[in-house]
Amino acid sequence: MHLADFWKETLSQIQQTTSESEFVLFFSNLNVIFEEDNNLTVESPSAFFRDKLRSTFGGKLEGILKDLTGHQVNIEFTVKAPAEKAVSLPAEKPAMKQNSSSSIASSGSFDHAKLRPHSMLNPDFTFDNFVVGGNNDFAYNCAVAISKDPGTNYNPLLLYGGVGLGKTHLMQAIGNAIYQNNPKANILYIPTESFVNEFLDAINTKKTSSFKNKYRNADVLLLDDIHDLQRKRETQEELFNTFNALYQSKKQLVFTCDRPPQELRDFTDRLLSRLTLGINADLQIPTWETRMVILKKKAEVRQLKVSDDVLEIISRKITTNIRDLESALKQISAYAELTSRDLTLEVTQSLLKNIFAGPVQQSIPMDLVMKVVAEFFKMSVSDLKGKKRTQAITQPRQIAMYIIREMTEFSTTEVGIEFGGRDHTTVMHAVQKIVDKLKTEPNFDIVIQNIMRTIRERANAS
Ligand code: ADP
Ligand code: MG
Repeated sequence: MHLADFWKETLSQIQQTTSESEFVLFFSNLNVIFEEDNNLTVESPSAFFRDKLRSTFGGKLEGILKDLTGHQVNIEFTVKAPAEKAVSLPAEKPAMKQNSSSSIASSGSFDHAKLRPHSMLNPDFTFDNFVVGGNNDFAYNCAVAISKDPGTNYNPLLLYGGVGLGKTHLMQAIGNAIYQNNPKANILYIPTESFVNEFLDAINTKKTSSFKNKYRNADVLLLDDIHDLQRKRETQEELFNTFNALYQSKKQLVFTCDRPPQELRDFTDRLLSRLTLGINADLQIPTWETRMVILKKKAEVRQLKVSDDVLEIISRKITTNIRDLESALKQISAYAELTSRDLTLEVTQSLLKNIFAGPVQQSIPMDLVMKVVAEFFKMSVSDLKGKKRTQAITQPRQIAMYIIREMTEFSTTEVGIEFGGRDHTTVMHAVQKIVDKLKTEPNFDIVIQNIMRTIRERANAS
């Protein structure tokens, strides 16, 4: 047997132990080069996939290959060179002139000099203008991979997450990048609400066939906010048919949704199963470090002179979403401009209080975090706070501390006191443990994100 055959067998073994979507995601888009008997190179679509493959599957793959071949096989993971047509990769700055005086778009990859903006897309919503962090890197990388090779592997893409977290931005960035590479592609972007109205109009005016024609001729269909289809049975039916037509002819489909798809109500099962057939990627609230990077980028693009200290306060205080973050920055700098006052820390703080007084800015109590974590791990809050040090208890305790540091503004000292009078260095150590674990265990993040989502939901409900 050749190494190629062993590789095939290895993949089918891996397939048995991973979920369908995970398998499609990581293994459907690889280019494998077989060298000699004991070396192979695996090319993946981007550095993100390369790293995840290496860390999550590298050891496993080599282990299986060793069992099969009876000797050690070394796998080298690399990134596939871009295809010819993707010369202006979305992640790279164009070599064209940089017009630094204009808006956000000048720092983006949207090449205004060559192409007029797409009529349905906001030219500012590019990959370059999108700050990538642990909260969105998976979604971002899927989006970039799709824009390089639409309709092939990651189809459909479902982006989901709360309001203001970048779903529309990322979806339109896919559209903009594809448009850049291929201005003739028929890219349709439409908010679901408009899609519903257009369809109902078409029924009323007996023009359903032109409606069908329009959408079934798309090369790329970007349908934003599909939760607006809840209870719209007729339009769901129409979308189901549109989906099938496009999917079968390998056209790219991208959807966004404000909640995990399984939480959609009044949605036909068969449509739901289509929408979630490909890659489902969620966008989370960025950590404050990422919020800081986003603010710096927005301030730079708008040429606002705001000190890092001020940006830091904003990114610490505004924990809801990126839209709120942007709007706080705008209002604070408008204030400084209009009153020609210096933005001191005090001024910023009091402005923030005024802007985000009231229910908008939800603060999360520590005991809510503890409660949710304890429930998640089926243990008691007192064990969580207590002195026991078995693995089954220390890990949830570290997770709770980590989440409190991520989601609230309590200091490590305050957290320590709440956890049975522990020292702040203990808390720091616990948080670091989780940070390390997040780096080495890719699926661990899903656990944390799940818990955080529950906490947010409970906080909003109360
Ligand atoms: P959603 O569709 O999820 O409600 P949007 O895509 O409209 O959110 O994003 C809200 C605002 O936040 C937009 O101005 C967008 O450019 C900005 N934004 C969101 N995520 C990012 C990010 N990762 N980097 C930079 N800006 C972002
Ligand atoms: Mg949106």
